[in-house]
Amino acid sequence: MTVSREIRLASRPVGMPVAANFSSADVTLAAPAPGQVLVANRWMTVDPYMRGRMTDRASYVPPFQVGEVLQGGAVGEVIESNDPGFKAGDLVLSFFGWRTAFIAPAAALEKLPAFDGVSPQAFLGVMGMPGLTAWGGLLEIGQPKPGDTVFVSGAAGAVGSLVAQIAKIKGCTVVATAGTDAKCDWLRSVGVDYAINYKTCGGLLAAVQAAVPKGIDVYFDNVGGEHLEVAIEVARPFARLVECGMIGDYNATQASPGPRNIMMVVGKSLKIQGFISTQFAGKRAEFAAEMAGWIAAGKIKWEETVVEGIDHAGEAFVGLFSGANTGKMLVKL
Ligand code: NDP
Repeated sequence: MTVSREIRLASRPVGMPVAANFSSADVTLAAPAPGQVLVANRWMTVDPYMRGRMTDRASYVPPFQVGEVLQGGAVGEVIESNDPGFKAGDLVLSFFGWRTAFIAPAAALEKLPAFDGVSPQAFLGVMGMPGLTAWGGLLEIGQPKPGDTVFVSGAAGAVGSLVAQIAKIKGCTVVATAGTDAKCDWLRSVGVDYAINYKTCGGLLAAVQAAVPKGIDVYFDNVGGEHLEVAIEVARPFARLVECGMIGDYNATQASPGPRNIMMVVGKSLKIQGFISTQFAGKRAEFAAEMAGWIAAGKIKWEETVVEGIDHAGEAFVGLFSGANTGKMLVKL
């Protein structure tokens, strides 16, 4: 008998999530039936998009239900297998995060591939969904060309930090924003040309204009709000604005007004396009090979912010909205 501790949605957050929105429960797992596998999670991810699933509204993924265990990516170790495809000790990727252990059909598990220089939890970050998001969003939608200037917001986070570095690999000048001086220092250390602390710069538009007076060709948006308005303002004709996320609005109780300068989209012939990373699912192998190559060549660096213990998963999640993480926010189980 294995006991799994799981984190449930106790109530729907209004505004910023609080501890009372989460509850925990211990459940006893039986032995895996034929075709099933018992897994102990070692790592789970918390991601900003989960905030959207805590609200009861139609979206590209269904909302979490109150009282039910939350869901998300996890890396675990097979404890017991009743399926010939897995054996004890295998490391697997699943969508059964927010719990310490689970039993699932073998088909719901993916064996972790082995890549040199990459830890298992990297498959929740640089080699996983955030990496695919950065790679697909920047290259397919942003279409950066050598010599272009790329503006990235949320740049010290899981996705943004990879966007910034991929843009450098592609021969672009990169201007990036983050919420602390330490994050900005780290961004400079991985090659970002201009890192701006958006909280202390004394005016984001002026700071971006001072950094890149000729404007930008690509904006990779992780935060929305003022950043998007600034991007439209400094965009050069035919710039591409990649709408990946708008974390600045995820806890808003009223929708923010749209960019006041949206009319510039017409005169500058701008292209604004959103995307969801699953649209690149068919290119995961291509992404993994290219990212692994960049890592092996020392061209991509990443940070992890690790919170220990399932009981602190809710805090880790809420920390995403106050900038508690540099790089990927992870929970070690
Ligand atoms: P991050 O690792 O970047 O963590 C969130 C970061 O956002 C924080 O560390 C904080 O950094 C910053 N932030 C939080 N609140 C604000 C705010 N009000 N204004 C400006 N910055 C803020 O998360 P991810 O890399 O996982 O995700 C980044 C974005 O990409 C999110 O919007 C997310 O929803 C989106 N996303 C979209 C996907 C898609 O398929 N379209 C897939 C994955 C992610 P700081 O200290 O700099 O403020």
